[in-house]
Amino acid sequence: MKVTLVKERKQKPDFSNLGFGKYFTDHMLVMEYDDSKGGWQEPEIIPFDDFKISPACCSLHYGQGIFEGLKAYKNDKGEITMFRPRDNFIRMNKSAERLCMAKVDIDVVLKALSELVELEKDWIPTLPGTSLYIRPFMFGSEAFLGVHPSKKFLFSIILSPVGSYYAHGLEPTALIVEDVYTRASIGGTGEAKCMGNYACSLLAGEEAKKKGFDQVLWLDGETKQYVTEVGSMNMFFVIDGVVCTAELDGSILRGITRDSAIQVLKKNGYKVEERKISIAEVVAAYKNGKLDEAFGTGTAAVISPVGTIQYKNETLTINNGKMGKITEWLYDQITGIQTQRLPDPFGWVYHVE
Ligand SMILES: *Cc1c(COP(=O)(O)O)cnc(C)c1O
Repeated sequence: MKVTLVKERKQKPDFSNLGFGKYFTDHMLVMEYDDSKGGWQEPEIIPFDDFKISPACCSLHYGQGIFEGLKAYKNDKGEITMFRPRDNFIRMNKSAERLCMAKVDIDVVLKALSELVELEKDWIPTLPGTSLYIRPFMFGSEAFLGVHPSKKFLFSIILSPVGSYYAHGLEPTALIVEDVYTRASIGGTGEAKCMGNYACSLLAGEEAKKKGFDQVLWLDGETKQYVTEVGSMNMFFVIDGVVCTAELDGSILRGITRDSAIQVLKKNGYKVEERKISIAEVVAAYKNGKLDEAFGTGTAAVISPVGTIQYKNETLTINNGKMGKITEWLYDQITGIQTQRLPDPFGWVYHVE
């Protein structure tokens, strides 16, 4: 692979105060796709820099853009690992298919990513809760204004050392059930990790923040009766000791943390159900004292406890607004596997050479 190094490396930020996605490493990966040149070109590592794109670049107009998010860790022996990276590229190819974009060769991008992470290993923070966030993304890069799928794409990976996703760390969040706007519906792009899903969810998020909530709890697009996801996380409830999450119906993002949580819970004897969960059921469980815990799952925050849920005029205060036992146990299990503090019976940890 062609590698062009920076002349001088940047000064590293304070690793004890990183926030999320504010700092970027010295280098990035780029790989171009061009139909007229036979498809994907060789990946390249270059200094982190601005792209030069045409004002007619199709993705600026029609939104052909997808992304992924995963993390790399470094243990006290200096070993570098990533968490389930192959699953991210499998999902990226599914998103690509839905948006008429080119699919990547998973082995090629995994190898190129490993080389990039190895090159930037001094940027991997090691304090508890910190990691190197990896952002692969791709957009249509052809310049035209007619509406059709792009014949050129730019695939890139940038890296960002990160701390906790939420400024308040593992404090339980306050959610409001959104009953006006929707983010996805059956047949739409809810299952694809695409730009547009985020653009269409911002307004609800801003309105929720103005009312003092952290995130929006989304309902299904058709009936607005069933809970789907929260912000950029999958949503779980513990109802009467059973862990439940929305079934994957095409409108819900196939979270890798969601899948990890389900597998860890099942392996440890918890009952897990993937099914339709109505907001009425959640409210009824709360009133009967059976809504034990609620949490969200996603790469950025891993497991995020939910303290309160506002639905119309009702405030559901879960577990007295404190993090629940299963939530905390799951956080420790998954972050333990990710950071090699705990054994990895699932084969999820990928070692970077
Ligand atoms: C990325 C994402 C998630 C979480 O997926 P992970 O693979 O666990 O990071 C959940 N919901 C939405 C809408 C997302 O974009």
